Amino acid sequence: MAHLARKAEASPGRVMKAERAPHSSKSTLLAARLKARIARNGPISVADYMGACLADKDAGYYSSRQPIGADGDFITAPEVSQVFGELLGLWAVAVWQSMGEPKPVTVAELGPGRGSLMLDAMRAWRSVPEFLDNVTVALVETSPVLREAQRTALYDAGVPVQWHDEVGGLPQHPSILIANEFVDALPVRQLVWRENQWRERCVTIASKGGFAFCEGAPIADEPLQAFGQTLNEPDGTILEIRPGADALMSALGARAQATPFAGLIVDYGHEQTVCGDTLQAVSRHKFADPLEAPGDVDLTAHVDFAALKDTAAAQGLIAYGPMPQGAFLLELGLEARRDQLCASATAEQRQDIISATSRLVDPAAMGILFKALALTSQGLAPPPPFGDI
Ligand code: SAH
Repeated sequence: MAHLARKAEASPGRVMKAERAPHSSKSTLLAARLKARIARNGPISVADYMGACLADKDAGYYSSRQPIGADGDFITAPEVSQVFGELLGLWAVAVWQSMGEPKPVTVAELGPGRGSLMLDAMRAWRSVPEFLDNVTVALVETSPVLREAQRTALYDAGVPVQWHDEVGGLPQHPSILIANEFVDALPVRQLVWRENQWRERCVTIASKGGFAFCEGAPIADEPLQAFGQTLNEPDGTILEIRPGADALMSALGARAQATPFAGLIVDYGHEQTVCGDTLQAVSRHKFADPLEAPGDVDLTAHVDFAALKDTAAAQGLIAYGPMPQGAFLLELGLEARRDQLCASATAEQRQDIISATSRLVDPAAMGILFKALALTSQGLAPPPPFGDI
């Protein structure tokens, strides 16, 4: 089992340049609330800390701001190039066709950010009127600020759009789901291997008054303990598990039992389960301390694609991949679309188009660290490009 060198593998999709942001008073509010909670009830798990930092209703990171883009905290693939959303949009059409063109069809997106991916997908759908006339877009988004940004981006795109709080609320139609950089934002539990037992990694208050990591009591979970014994890792080894991803797979599995379903999860992470601390904070395109400004910085952790696949299979889903993002986009026709855009562009625009599309597929940028995993209900053809290889 390999260990992750976290900073060396940090997400180039998310981090680029510039200065760290000043801490807002809202984060002070969240820090004060978390400290009061810890003083009252004792240390909180890393998962609870991450959940509060991202989703606290008043002072959580996503609840209180629009963080995506050059003038925000991080950049994602749909913000790098329109080609990303266009290709994923055409992927959805190809999947719909292989389902036998069911009508109506829902295209769902989890955590749509600024709505850029969906806007670009909708543009691509204009070349397939039969699809355009029968599709409803369903966005699963908890942040009111980002919902508003999505509404503004998509208001005159000519496709009906609805919003949902969770996957369970999506319409029970044949559905195609896309989730880019969504799973990495679901909280992780961190377990520490100590004296032949897993302990919950927690957050407590340090003697100087800031936050610090600590270890809780041993966890009473037989299968998890047995798994730990098989790893043969030294004391202090950290394993990350993601309960929210299990819940997501179980919701998608239930959906796939009831109606034709295909999903595409694109995210950064590892193909095999590996031990290591991958919790990372990002602010203004730079790494930050995950404990320094709760609610004011983005917190994510690598996606364990092996664990996702296992859970998906246990829920009756068929899993394809993961395939490196670079190979995936190239197979879907990135170069042809790039050349098409370049043909009607100025010399300066051509440079931008070429450098943005390269960034998506370059092994040293987003091409390998980011991966695409496809999931389908039983009995469907393998989604492109998985059927061709
Ligand atoms: N997919 C977008 C944004 C990625 S950022 C892009 O590629 O640009 C993560 C997104 O997931 C944000 O829109 C955030 O508000 C949303 N999100 C995070 N946790 C969520 C949850 N539990 N339920 C619904 N949306 C969530």
